[in-house]
Amino acid sequence: MNVPIIAKKVARMKLRSVVSRKPSKGRNGTRAIRLDRKEVQSAATELERQVSRYMKRRPEGKPVGYPKEKIARVMMYGLVTVKGVPRNVEIVVVLQRGKGFVCGGAFGNYKSSGTPIVVIFLNGGLFPEQFLSVSGRGKYLYDEFVQILMHELTHARDIEKLESLPVQGRLPEQDEVNWDSYYNDPREVRAFAREIMDYVISNWSSLSKSMPVHQAIDYGIRFQDTWRKGAQFWTRKNQRLIYKIVETGLRDEELIP
Ligand SMILES: [Zn+2]
Repeated sequence: MNVPIIAKKVARMKLRSVVSRKPSKGRNGTRAIRLDRKEVQSAATELERQVSRYMKRRPEGKPVGYPKEKIARVMMYGLVTVKGVPRNVEIVVVLQRGKGFVCGGAFGNYKSSGTPIVVIFLNGGLFPEQFLSVSGRGKYLYDEFVQILMHELTHARDIEKLESLPVQGRLPEQDEVNWDSYYNDPREVRAFAREIMDYVISNWSSLSKSMPVHQAIDYGIRFQDTWRKGAQFWTRKNQRLIYKIVETGLRDEELIP
């Protein structure tokens, strides 16, 4: 069975094939791969709504557990890869063992049908009422879904050749991961940059209020969760690239001159 090549929150997911492959020769662009933020947000809203509904049906006071089912599902239509191939992506939420509320995300395809999928993994060891306490628009779960979708859907536009994902059950755990290679894989850099960019753009009005532009960008990036995890692994060159991508994103949104 193939293991998925792409996963977010890798510290918990640990996938070997991510690092066994040479980084592809990437475009060297300083512009993030385009995603419709509104569409990503409405997908996150719908997923969050379905997850809440599911959690309300589960008995309180004990862990949700690990039933092999999709607890939320939405279709994202009309994506096109950077090479122009149309790609409709199914997005599903499933339960697995892990840490935190959201244990990770992955992008790949169904082995059987070849349909592209994004899988978001929730920690079935938590209680339904814990999930409900972080549910709702603008709350933790929604924000996590947006961030994961930004990352995985960037892969969905960026990666032409898909590898199959196990949609049910947990992903293989592997320890001997070379984090430097993983984080510096150009596809991962682009996906992480997309997440960081989105965070800075979303928070720009408060960031820019009290600081000059470059300081505000710097502050926004450093505050972002993904950056805090990844900074130790990224090369100086990739750190600069991420900064550039964020800056270009702000300019494209006409938030900075
Ligand atoms: Zn990734």
